[in-house]
Amino acid sequence: MTSFRRRLAGTVALTGLVLGLASVAVDNSAAAEDELNIYSARHYDTDSRLFKGFTEETGIKINLIEGNGEELVARILNEGANSPADILITVDAGRLWRAEQEGIFQPVSSDVLEERIPSYLRHPDGLWYGVSTRARTLYYNPEIVDEPPATYEDLADPRFEGLVCIRSGSNVYNLSLMASMIDVHGEEGATEWAESVVNNFARDPQGGDTDQIKAVASGECGVAVANHYYYLRLVRSDDPADQEVVEKVELVWANQEDRGVHVNVSGVGVVANAPHPDAALAFIEYLTNDDAQNYFTEGNNEYPVVEGVLNNPVLQEFGIPKPHEVNVSVYGENQPLAQKIFDRVGWK
Ligand code: FE
Repeated sequence: MTSFRRRLAGTVALTGLVLGLASVAVDNSAAAEDELNIYSARHYDTDSRLFKGFTEETGIKINLIEGNGEELVARILNEGANSPADILITVDAGRLWRAEQEGIFQPVSSDVLEERIPSYLRHPDGLWYGVSTRARTLYYNPEIVDEPPATYEDLADPRFEGLVCIRSGSNVYNLSLMASMIDVHGEEGATEWAESVVNNFARDPQGGDTDQIKAVASGECGVAVANHYYYLRLVRSDDPADQEVVEKVELVWANQEDRGVHVNVSGVGVVANAPHPDAALAFIEYLTNDDAQNYFTEGNNEYPVVEGVLNNPVLQEFGIPKPHEVNVSVYGENQPLAQKIFDRVGWK
């Protein structure tokens, strides 16, 4: 009886929702082509060029709402069926997965996106698309470390006892890295790895990625893990203090002799109740054109997802590492287990 009532209530609510949507669609039809509401969690100030480029190309005005990933997801959920959000942009497949679990996205597909974006960098059902990539890789101080690390597995080696610096186990970049270790080594192997890495810690996890790199330069740590663009930002900086850091720290592209470096994405999806779905799809397609891809590579030193686009001289200098080509949605699926393992081994 109870379940029937619940089902009935559900049907009534759904009918109301459909009617509501129908009237919204009519109200917005005139505006559908000239406005787009973007909720963005990318914390890089160069993105304004991306948005400007889209408006110049299409005449579609962008209304931008910025916040961190969790805030924006909560906001869209709060706004419910009336949310003005068309697009959610966020970094890391782990965060895209969290949004996906909340039902934030609707599936979209287009020949342009399928041609331009390699399949391992997009959601299998088209719920979101990776539009730029970042490698989470290794750094070391040659004054401290004789034999540099070549792989993530090396971080567990006893030769790095008391030398490893990496940020906290609650950080989504680390959860995704851990998720990939689970995918490669299984739960048991990944747990053993994490345990040994914790045993090699130079200090309790603290700070962001740039702080790990700086701690390698200062000698507090011998090796560290950080996303590549944080290091390249220091390389491109005019600040003498940043240049000093770069002088002391070497970057290593991880696992180049086997599966490739751990790669994650900045990703974009169309929100389930998007009032401007056509403009939203046009925007995602725009992000894969050569100009937009160059904004990513020049602005934040990320890698393009589209092959052959690479105007950034510093990126060219460091080269394109061989990426680990596992579908990045795995990082979301393995995220709960990754967190459990971090908690279990005391990776705070
Ligand atoms: Fe970042």
